[in-house]
Amino acid sequence: MAAAAYPPTATPEALSALLQVFADYSLSHGLAVRPVTNPTNTLATPAPVSLYPSRFPRTCFASGRSVQPLYNALYAAVAHDAEWLGKLIQDLAAVDTFMKSLHDVYLQVSAEGFAHEYALGLFRSDYMVHRPSPSDPPVLHQVEFNTIAASFGGLASRVSELHRFLVKSAAYPKAAELSLEDIPLNPAVKELAAGLAAADHYYGAAEAGRGKAVLFIVQPGERNAFDQRWLEYELVEEHGVRVCRLSLVEVPVKTTLETGSRRLLYTTPNGETVEVSTVYFRAGYGPDDYPTSLEWEARTQLERSRAVKCPTIATQLAGAKKVQQELAVDGVLGRFIKSPSEREEIRATFAAIYPLDTSPAGLAARKLAFEHPERYVLKPQREGGGNNVYRSKIPGFLNSIGENLWSGYILMELIEPPPAEGVIVRNAEALRGAVVGELGVYGVALWREKDGELLVNKEAGWLLRTKGADSEEGGVAAGFGCVDGVCLV
Ligand code: ADP
Ligand code: MG
Ligand code: MG
Repeated sequence: MAAAAYPPTATPEALSALLQVFADYSLSHGLAVRPVTNPTNTLATPAPVSLYPSRFPRTCFASGRSVQPLYNALYAAVAHDAEWLGKLIQDLAAVDTFMKSLHDVYLQVSAEGFAHEYALGLFRSDYMVHRPSPSDPPVLHQVEFNTIAASFGGLASRVSELHRFLVKSAAYPKAAELSLEDIPLNPAVKELAAGLAAADHYYGAAEAGRGKAVLFIVQPGERNAFDQRWLEYELVEEHGVRVCRLSLVEVPVKTTLETGSRRLLYTTPNGETVEVSTVYFRAGYGPDDYPTSLEWEARTQLERSRAVKCPTIATQLAGAKKVQQELAVDGVLGRFIKSPSEREEIRATFAAIYPLDTSPAGLAARKLAFEHPERYVLKPQREGGGNNVYRSKIPGFLNSIGENLWSGYILMELIEPPPAEGVIVRNAEALRGAVVGELGVYGVALWREKDGELLVNKEAGWLLRTKGADSEEGGVAAGFGCVDGVCLV
């Protein structure tokens, strides 16, 4: 018997009723973003979300989750290995001004000596299902590993609840045949907040008489604020940990470093001075977040502080795509992961990825980039979407920037996900079409800087993002995709 079409098609009346239930659930459960025009900053609009959870291979989902603690350990070890990482970033800094600026802050604070004893990673490893033809088994291939500002954990948790609600309330057409057992509850908010609470705990007590807080560093005019608020609500309600929010440019104005102890002090709007135990960066991942030298001074002040950083500059640098490429070179994983079977589990998720420098491998990859660009994506050392160069545009782009800068890029084989159909709801409109999914698995790692000892290492839920198959990038905020949930098959 042929499998039923998925997702099912509803009659126009049924679809319109479903969309109203969908929008109301989103707005009443904080599955929302701030609209572009928002004069009082008190308006919300439903976040772009998939109407139905997308079918996702159970085996791939399980392997992505089970490999996460190994990835946490790997990236904590990379961030802690000043010698290996320092050499790699030094080379990058010569061809990439943003990498250089970050590295300069790192070197400056390192020379003085770090005051923090612990480092926190709230990571997200992103994958696509690689299945070039229906006769191939589906396997997960890693797109990238994020070590800073990995977003959407809050909304992703709410999406799994939304899809489950729609099943329970029989709001979906009968033909959907969805079962709650296949739509797991996503613990991302709980686990990520628990990671921040652990950092606050390991930081220890504030000086006598002072309160403590976790400081979120956010972009001015942030539209994805509710995603972040969910972490705050969980921290306050479940862990009794307070949260404050500042943009980078506000840091030197509203915080000070206590001389000697380098405790970071923040004065709240109520005039209370609290000690910042943990700095959680949801900004600062790209050059646009540093329009002036003030933002760099802010970043330096935070890095110098005793507060636990999520992430430290070193951890942010460990998330460079160049690191991902180097880790795929034969023999390199062994420096960080001692168990051969663990190395194998990690390696099984790698897609082909090459340097574009003047090493023999880099020269071979340059040839591939010019002779078979249709197989590849070219990536600079940037985060946040919209920075990559695809397929036939690669040769022209490389020629336009000059050969001396090519080593700042990596070349990656395009992952080939199986065809699927989906319905994305955006601006109250249901758009049906061919889609591609990207699974992110969150991880929490907390380690001691003195010796790199991992004190917390957990898989922390997931994010499925779905985009139209014809768009190359899947950015939800950038307007290309949506937050989705999994229906395991
Ligand atoms: P960023 O750090 O900017 O998010 P990514 O490496 O995640 O950079 O690339 C952005 C997007 O480009 C991904 O979300 C995915 O949609 C697409 N992409 C990246 N690498 C690949 C790949 N190897 N194969 C197919 N699509 C890719
Ligand atoms: Mg990224
Ligand atoms: Mg990405």
